[in-house]
Amino acid sequence: MANIIDGRALANKLQVKLAQKTAQLKAEKGLTPGIVVIIVGDNPASQVYVRNKERAAIAAGFKSEIVRLPLSTSQDDLIFLITKYNLDANWHGILVQLPLPDHIDPEAVLLAIDPEKDVDGFHPINMGRLWSGHPVMIPSTPAGIMEMFHEYGVELEGKRAVVIGRSNIVGKPMAQLLLNKNATVTLTHSRTHHLARIASQADILVVAIGRGHFVTKDFVKEGAVVIDVGMNRNQEGKFIGDVKFDEVAEKASLITPVPGGVGPMTITMLMEQTYEAAVRSLKN
Ligand code: NAP
Repeated sequence: MANIIDGRALANKLQVKLAQKTAQLKAEKGLTPGIVVIIVGDNPASQVYVRNKERAAIAAGFKSEIVRLPLSTSQDDLIFLITKYNLDANWHGILVQLPLPDHIDPEAVLLAIDPEKDVDGFHPINMGRLWSGHPVMIPSTPAGIMEMFHEYGVELEGKRAVVIGRSNIVGKPMAQLLLNKNATVTLTHSRTHHLARIASQADILVVAIGRGHFVTKDFVKEGAVVIDVGMNRNQEGKFIGDVKFDEVAEKASLITPVPGGVGPMTITMLMEQTYEAAVRSLKN
């Protein structure tokens, strides 16, 4: 039976450390990290995410602002606002909550954010930095997973890692972070042939597809480390992962639960990136 990776406990531990580092930064350099979150419209899930981000920012001791814009906001007005925050040295992180309304092109909005303040790490410049092996801002979900590997002493060098899912926010940056740590990485997706056979060769298996209980024990090698990024609701409305936890836990050596695994780490890493951006701003 696998050991469980406790994402909640690790996130709490990192948050305490972050609050201490922030207090020190304020005392020694007179600098308070600042994060602004912009949300357009009233998508209920987005409202919850934004509130959680604000709560984490306040707990860390940051300056935090949520800008709530009406659904009718034009793309030009949104980009104008982003430019204002780009130029304001009080803000080190700018986040635009996705999804955006249909009349706004998310790509154009992403490009408008100063890469030095792009704490989500989605700007092409930050993606390019990551892929060239010199990461600056890293998408927070894979960054949180790397912290988990570190905390639980998971060796990556020379290991066979399989990532299922190739989204820009999870799968692709995850593959690159594993490669940077000298794992041998296979990045798979919905068109991959013989997926279970490939996955079952992995020492490290990261699953980010968005299909409840898709990964069964047949996908998993005895003793593998299994990370489940999925957040799906089952018929009873409960959150379940992409991995069939009970049967996979019988084979894995380490596994993340859902909820309480990857999820809690994501917002913590976002705050960590904001802190790092603030520290870097002192050098500019
Ligand atoms: P996404 O953008 O929808 O991408 C899904 C990826 O999975 C795609 O690359 C897709 O392949 C692949 N895929 C879909 N069905 C597949 C199948 N049957 N076999 C193999 N690959 C398949 O999703 P995402 O944003 O990466 O999110 C994935 C999951 O993680 C979701 O449940 C999401 O809610 C969750 N998530 C959680 C957190 C967190 O903090 N806990 C953060 C982000 C995401 P193609 O490219 O070929 O279409």
